[in-house]
Amino acid sequence: MTDSSFPQRLIDKLGLDGVITAPDEIAPWLSDWRGMYTGHAQAVVRPSSTDDVAAALALCSEARVPVVPRGGNTGLCGGATPDASPMNVILSLDRMHAIRSIDTIGNTLVAEAGCILGNLRRAAADEHRLLPLSLAAEDSCQLGGNLSTNAGGVNVVRYGMTRELVLGLEAVLPNGEIFHGLRTLRKDNTGYDLKQLLIGAEGTLGVITAAALRLYPRNDVRVVVLTAVNSSQQALDLFELLFERGGPRMQAFEFFTAECLDMVLEQVEGMRAPFAERHPAYVLIELADTVDEPALRELVETVIGEALERELCVDAAVSESIAQVNSMWRLREEISEAQRADGPHVKHDVSLPIASIPAFLASAGERIDKHHAGVRLIVFGHFGDGNLHYNLSRPAGAPRDFFKLHAEGLTAEVLDEVARYGGSISAEHGIGQLKREYFSRYKDPLEIRLMREIRKVFDPDGIMNPGKIF
Ligand SMILES: Cc1cc2nc3c(=O)[nH]c(=O)nc-3n(C[C@H](O)[C@H](O)[C@H](O)COP(=O)(O)OP(=O)(O)OC[C@H]3O[C@@H](n4cnc5c(N)ncnc54)[C@H](O)[C@@H]3O)c2cc1C
Repeated sequence: MTDSSFPQRLIDKLGLDGVITAPDEIAPWLSDWRGMYTGHAQAVVRPSSTDDVAAALALCSEARVPVVPRGGNTGLCGGATPDASPMNVILSLDRMHAIRSIDTIGNTLVAEAGCILGNLRRAAADEHRLLPLSLAAEDSCQLGGNLSTNAGGVNVVRYGMTRELVLGLEAVLPNGEIFHGLRTLRKDNTGYDLKQLLIGAEGTLGVITAAALRLYPRNDVRVVVLTAVNSSQQALDLFELLFERGGPRMQAFEFFTAECLDMVLEQVEGMRAPFAERHPAYVLIELADTVDEPALRELVETVIGEALERELCVDAAVSESIAQVNSMWRLREEISEAQRADGPHVKHDVSLPIASIPAFLASAGERIDKHHAGVRLIVFGHFGDGNLHYNLSRPAGAPRDFFKLHAEGLTAEVLDEVARYGGSISAEHGIGQLKREYFSRYKDPLEIRLMREIRKVFDPDGIMNPGKIF
């Protein structure tokens, strides 16, 4: 039963500006970005301060009202979409978008959770610093969402996942208590590192309101190489060479197959094939540094020369300008959009020990071919992190609803292979509602039990983001 006076109690605490209650105004908040899920809510709360978040959570906790934290809603697993309960309150951080400080000596940035990631990157760049977290949704997603999904992106090979960029956190626990962990210390071995529990928790333990992030030197000198390879084994050998020779300058090592490029060239206007010939797969490598461009270019050309000589790739194009850097990146970044334009598809965001990628690709491909011949494999991703987007498109000529019947079976084929190689069923997108079933099937029961117990400590009444992860 909903308590019809509850939204009014929220308004009494936060003011009219901070609460949406009209059904037609709530409606746009009820679905995920991909339109896969739709739920219900009695109100959307938009606090403008940490104290307001605390007041709202204290009220919800007292009335046992479920709370769904919401960032930019770009998550790919339905984590920010409420379930079917009419009691839900969506808590959006979009009015909390202040940058509290940038320290160019300690190299830290302290910002509120509602900040758009792209704005934070630009603010850091204005101070000649780099905030390395970067993903295609960066002009829509929010810091709170990035932290709560432990987002990855294109620079993980050099700087790590979001959790590796966090020095401190401020958060509000479900009962309204404020967790004051917004420290900017590089070293702090004082017991358990509790902030790490909130990172990647997908809003199930509390609401993150601010974070202190590490900054790096701004490395404006960028050289991108697009290489053609005959196999994923060649890509792996190339990775080893680049790791040894490029060292920390290698900031992206992205892989995509010929089928991905075919789809981009077919579906996205104005794209051109990078090489005269079609090759089985491609690797996009970015090196970046603070040194002058000729020095970085010389390094890249020497390493790629060696790669060609040792037959670790079959062709290579090195960017000559920032326009070429951008057009090479577009070939990789447009794959998701091209696959969407091609029609219904099934996504898998998996990770594997890097050295087992070639064996995994061979055996997963064989398995799919055996049981579902003709399904098109659209495989790309952050190869340097062992992270593949192992996506499937329907066979040529198959009806649009092909996956209605086959998606579950195909996903089981892929994830069973991932498990066989010791991989993860979710590399960077989280669990949300989408992967709950697979989480319980593939995750170690002991780890799940410990997670449930931790959740009870933070949220004994289970009001935070119900129906997500577990
Ligand atoms: C085009 C595109 C490209 C993408 N590329 C990548 C990529 O390369 N790497 C990658 O990792 N992801 C990628 N994503 C997925 C998505 O952008 C990330 O997961 C992002 O971190 C989500 O941020 P958000 O603000 O949109 O969060 P939302 O979608 O709003 O929420 C995500 C989860 O975080 C919780 N949450 C949000 N804010 C808070 C808060 N303040 N406190 C507690 N919980 C909170 C929500 O409840 C939900 O469970 C991509 C998405 C798109 C659309």
